[in-house]
Amino acid sequence: MTLIIAIDGPAASGKGTLARRIAEHFGIAWLDTGLLYRAVARDVLANGGDLEDVCAGEAAARAVVAQSLTDPALRGPRAGDAASIVAKIPQVRAALLDYQRTFAGQEGGAVLDGRDIGTVVCPSAHVKIFVTASDEARARRRYLEHQARGEGVTYDDLLADIRRRDARDSGRAAAPMLAARDALHLDTTELDPDQAFDAAMQLIETKLGGI
Ligand code: C5P
Repeated sequence: MTLIIAIDGPAASGKGTLARRIAEHFGIAWLDTGLLYRAVARDVLANGGDLEDVCAGEAAARAVVAQSLTDPALRGPRAGDAASIVAKIPQVRAALLDYQRTFAGQEGGAVLDGRDIGTVVCPSAHVKIFVTASDEARARRRYLEHQARGEGVTYDDLLADIRRRDARDSGRAAAPMLAARDALHLDTTELDPDQAFDAAMQLIETKLGGI
């Protein structure tokens, strides 16, 4: 069976860690689709382009390859903010669809996390989970990550960044961040990563048991 699991949700909701652990559990591949948009933004800027430029974005999206997704610079908050600007462009989203669908269709299946996996990329995924957490819990998580790396970012700046990005991702016309109608909901506000994983596995097992 090719098992496809879609994990969607806002920044710092815990969806990436969850997706990675679920993929490990089932022994299948994992794709953090946010990295694709982050790489497009990085490449547009590296070519001296403007993040709002449709042609520059589309060309960068067509050129994205797996090797360019391992760059540690892609993980920073500025890369996330830039990603959410190119992610508004429908041509960029369309150019990244093949890559994501080919990945999802690989032997054994895959877990993909993002904003539109359950709604657009893999609408027939076997399991769809929409992960949320309060704005404050998500900002606190980011703050602790930055502190651990010795980076001087304030909690208030991170909270503002999260809210700005949520508004951009939910408010855009092209594939906005949205729970699929058949998505299972998981709120991780009060959960640590182990508890979130256990809760997600319960949802998955119940869903797969009923297939
Ligand atoms: O998940 P991550 O924070 O890395 O995503 C960065 C940005 O990429 C998001 O804020 C969103 O604008 C965009 N994105 C998207 N669709 C996806 C994954 C990410 O629009 N499937």
